[in-house]
Amino acid sequence: MAVATAGGDGGGGRRLRVFFLPFFARGHLIPMTDLACRMAAASPEVVETTMVVTPANATVVASTVAHAGAASAEQAVRVVCYPFPDVGLERGVECLGSAAAHDAWRVYRAVDLSQPVHESLLRQHRPDAIVADVPFWWATDIAAELGVPRLTFNPVGVFPQLAMNNLVTIRPDIVRRGLAGPPVSVPSLPGKEITIPVSELPDFLVQDEHLSMCWDRIKASQLAGFGVVVNTFADLERPYCDEFSRVDARRAYFVGPLSLPSHSAVHRGGDGDVDCLTWLSTKPSQSVVYVCFGSWAHFSATQTRELALGLEASNQPFLWVIRSEDSNGGGRWAPEGWEQRVAGRGFVVRGWAPQLAVLAHPSVGAFLMHCGWNSLLEAAAAGVPVLTWPLVFEQFINERLVTDVAAFGARVWGGGKRSVREHESETVPAEAIATAVAGFMQGGGRRDTARSRARELAGSARAAVSENGSSWSDIRRLIQDLTDTSASRV
Ligand code: UDP
Repeated sequence: MAVATAGGDGGGGRRLRVFFLPFFARGHLIPMTDLACRMAAASPEVVETTMVVTPANATVVASTVAHAGAASAEQAVRVVCYPFPDVGLERGVECLGSAAAHDAWRVYRAVDLSQPVHESLLRQHRPDAIVADVPFWWATDIAAELGVPRLTFNPVGVFPQLAMNNLVTIRPDIVRRGLAGPPVSVPSLPGKEITIPVSELPDFLVQDEHLSMCWDRIKASQLAGFGVVVNTFADLERPYCDEFSRVDARRAYFVGPLSLPSHSAVHRGGDGDVDCLTWLSTKPSQSVVYVCFGSWAHFSATQTRELALGLEASNQPFLWVIRSEDSNGGGRWAPEGWEQRVAGRGFVVRGWAPQLAVLAHPSVGAFLMHCGWNSLLEAAAAGVPVLTWPLVFEQFINERLVTDVAAFGARVWGGGKRSVREHESETVPAEAIATAVAGFMQGGGRRDTARSRARELAGSARAAVSENGSSWSDIRRLIQDLTDTSASRV
């Protein structure tokens, strides 16, 4: 097992050694590395952080650390590598975004297969604390064996976590109603009533027994652990944060946004296409709709084609990130002559965009997104209003936070069946996309309300991570709690 540093040789000595175990997806690797950087920077003389990753994922960590710009060797984030389990994937394919859609299950399989190697690595290094990602339920047991605290890092917000917890309590009723049953009202949620059609609920709540057992196991491990760290800020989800601290964790730390949108964030999570930033600079202020569905979601060729036609018909400038798999087959998705017709008005990134730098750009006026938690938080922190197009997992629940609770966005489409299961979802037609995008970008009504709300949130996000802000304080409270626990052990 190789031990290396991404940014310096660290100091060692008597610092508190915190090990981070991220799941195999960029939406997890990036914010967890951000957290490791934040903790190291908050108290370099006290804390030393180490990311425990497989070789291909180490490059994501390295580029994220480069963005965070560790100012000194003491703040450097160490990297410990272990081999990715053999799950039948090609060499170098070690996360959801690199694996083809039909191979995603293999990446999940690697969670359990990586348990023995994780455990032996932790026994060998004996860290003072372990911050493990949600799927690594077994981390609580190995932490107990080593006599150190285990924290859960949860890469989704508090609102979706609470909603899912509360929905679990009525799972038998949801299953009985079946997929065609009436919409479900989320029980015992503070604030506004939230109602969701069954087709928009994650599979483990509706039909998948195996996933449901995994959820129970994960929750038990989270509750038995030292506490939970969440990438959110109190002003975005205040009543839910209070409730979460009461029922869902022995200790809760709300430490986000772990990374703020900024012009210099060009290498975070990977080498992005920086030409799009130059292109953005040729466009008027707030005129461009940025279209990106996260680090691994896949669209069918039919849906990709409708989106292309919709963006064309909207007549708005757009910056669209297409995952390489969507554009497989030599651009089969692109309608005849489309690229020529939108030339100059549209810019297509194939692969990876420097999203934080894009969102910080003054030309961006709206973000058409899948409601992945990181993207949602980044839009709020950038003050960019959102058009929502959720696809899977808890993203339909996140959408309610954007549209109904925090109110900084609107749905792109509500005219047909939407579902977390792609084969059940209706294709969103080009005309609907064009109408929603043009209506939102032209301003007035919904866009203006969403924009002013997004601006307020951006101010709160910056205040939260500034000195003495709520997230700034929670990171320090976390370090203090770990230091006290370590001292009491000695
Ligand atoms: N991201 C990026 N460039 C891209 C696509 C994604 O920088 O082209 C980043 C984005 O800023 C976010 C993360 O990847 O931090 C995606 O996380 P999210 O929770 O939004 O979606 P997921 O990929 O987990 O579905």
